[in-house]
Amino acid sequence: MKKPIILTGDRTTGPLHLGHYAGSLRNRLRFQKDHEQFLLLADMQALTDNAHDPGKVRRNVIEVALDYLAVGIDPECTTICLQSHLPALAELSMLYLNFVSVARLERNPTIKDEIKARGFGRDIPAGFLCYPAAQAADITAFKATMVPVGEDQAPLIEQTNEIVRRINATAGKSILAEARAVIPKSGRLPGVDGKAKMSKSGGNAISLSASPDQIRAAVKAMYTDPGHLRVNDPGTVEGNVVFTYLDAFDEDQTELDRLKDHYRCGGLGDGTLKSRLEEILQELIAPIRERRQLLAQDLDHVLSVIQEGTERARERTEATKKEVTQGLGLFRL
Ligand code: ATP
Ligand code: MG
Repeated sequence: MKKPIILTGDRTTGPLHLGHYAGSLRNRLRFQKDHEQFLLLADMQALTDNAHDPGKVRRNVIEVALDYLAVGIDPECTTICLQSHLPALAELSMLYLNFVSVARLERNPTIKDEIKARGFGRDIPAGFLCYPAAQAADITAFKATMVPVGEDQAPLIEQTNEIVRRINATAGKSILAEARAVIPKSGRLPGVDGKAKMSKSGGNAISLSASPDQIRAAVKAMYTDPGHLRVNDPGTVEGNVVFTYLDAFDEDQTELDRLKDHYRCGGLGDGTLKSRLEEILQELIAPIRERRQLLAQDLDHVLSVIQEGTERARERTEATKKEVTQGLGLFRL
């Protein structure tokens, strides 16, 4: 039987962090054996808000690829490919821009939030406003039906499916398939500063290559409940960043439920809670960091993984582009 196809990716704007791990990497690891999985190093999308710094976007191609391999993405099962070297993606993006209005792009809740977070005001790069159409091109070019992403991405998958329906309606047949976002229960991981989302650009991340000292310092600086002044005061669990992280990374749910009850009643100190979290994060990150250090000693190998993956992806995406242009009945020479 044919395996279901998965496409996801990451902008090459910095090394990956715990938000990526909880939001999508964990699912990608789970899926890679019994799905056909493609991972896109999204350097073109990274440029949409980093055009002033192409060097950063270039350097982080290798960083993100190293993170993939270090967390256990297996290039034998998963195709890792580079967006800027897949021209069919850019061509499909141009085509899809005709199937979405500027007003619809401006209404996209993710885009709205990101425009605000980046402080663009009226100076929104056109590429940034239009990246949902490019993302639709990425997903459909691989004919992906599953997209494991963080919760912030759900409106983008919805927008992709709108474009898919319009194209199919215009073609008068089903050339493209709709995709489903696969979102983890843990939701969006907040930043260590308590802001709504841990993000590379937000400077509030714990990276998957963080040193033991960096992990310790980040956990130490985390907000808990500001009303929990003395150990015996009753504390609040909801919105408490340390508990949000424990929810995402503590595998002992029974013990975690017990700690939550104890914290609510009073008598459980923030220090004890933070030590538990720190220990869990140190254990999670240490093997990733060590594998990453080894992989970084053989960058030729990493490069060949990207090169081979991009070749495979090129065939796939060119075939879809042909189907779409022919399906829409464009002129053929
Ligand atoms: P940037 O700040 O450059 O946009 P980012 O940290 O937001 O970077 P992306 O490359 O935009 O990372 O996101 C890649 C994937 O990781 C997406 O599926 C996104 O939903 C997921 N992701 C990123 N940050 C988080 C988070 N804090 N919680 C859950 N998922 C996340
Ligand atoms: Mg982002």
